[in-house]
Amino acid sequence: MIIDSHQHFVRLAKHPEVEGFRKAQLEGKNPDSLPNISDGDVKKSLEQVVNLMETRGIDVAFASPRAKAMATHEGTVEQNAVWADLNNGLIARACKLPPGRFAPVGMLGQHPSCPSAQVANQIERWTNEGFVAFNFDPDGTGGRWQNQPFTGKHNYPVFEAAQALDVPLVLHGSESINKNFPHTAVQYLIADITGFVQLMMAKELFRDFPRLRFLIPHGGGALPCQIGRWRAIAKHSNWASPDEILGNGNVFVDTCVYNDLNMQMLFDAVPLDNILFGSECDGAFPGVINDESKDHYDNTRRYVDDSTLASPEKDRIYAANAQRVYPRASRWIKA
Ligand SMILES: [Zn+2]
Repeated sequence: MIIDSHQHFVRLAKHPEVEGFRKAQLEGKNPDSLPNISDGDVKKSLEQVVNLMETRGIDVAFASPRAKAMATHEGTVEQNAVWADLNNGLIARACKLPPGRFAPVGMLGQHPSCPSAQVANQIERWTNEGFVAFNFDPDGTGGRWQNQPFTGKHNYPVFEAAQALDVPLVLHGSESINKNFPHTAVQYLIADITGFVQLMMAKELFRDFPRLRFLIPHGGGALPCQIGRWRAIAKHSNWASPDEILGNGNVFVDTCVYNDLNMQMLFDAVPLDNILFGSECDGAFPGVINDESKDHYDNTRRYVDDSTLASPEKDRIYAANAQRVYPRASRWIKA
């Protein structure tokens, strides 16, 4: 079995009525009713991604709302809670339409002034609806990075909920208002690196929450290239080392890197039990061709297949690790 642990239903998020709802919110109109999206429209938005999954031999994907659309720096506390619930409701419906192909990962109504207890309540509510994990924006200020490190006690209610409910948090960046940091090219990768380093710096976090799990997407950002630097600074500054937080089973990465060289570096730098297959299938740069492989850049299965790993090692990355790290996904996966 092959599980893509990192997918977004971007086409669904781009439905004109969904985008129109958020636009109206941000204009202060606060529509009374949620957009009425038909099952036909939901199904249509999945066609391309299901076709690509079949072409690439991907059996199941963990699907979340569009990351850019989280835009946790915009709106108000109340608006963002409604916005996250709207997106999660659509994801829940989409995941049920083709049975056995998807498991839902949620959006959270984060906002710089939102009490984290409210976000924790949202985690509980949507976990009870069958959600298997949640995207959590470690910045939350649209690329300004003005908040305290996300690992602080102000977020403990979120961590308590995630640990108690056994759902991993995916540290995923969102929209950037900073033109120097385009979201898919820079802000997401900064969020990955920053999230990982903040976890190294947070000495008490995994003592307080020994079973808390984080997934750092996009191959852990700079992890494949810079793990030596982080090993050095961990010794220099008396932080937890990258090997410690990976080895303790608290931090995982996915395979969303787009070439053979960096995929191999990822396998060399990170223990294989900490790597989950992910491809952002039809997400970040749909249809863009890699001249080396003559295939889509985001067909990351090709780079894993072409690597020197043995078949049982590939199996761990393709499915076993995802099933272990996302235990609630089992109910969505056909036996
Ligand atoms: Zn993503």
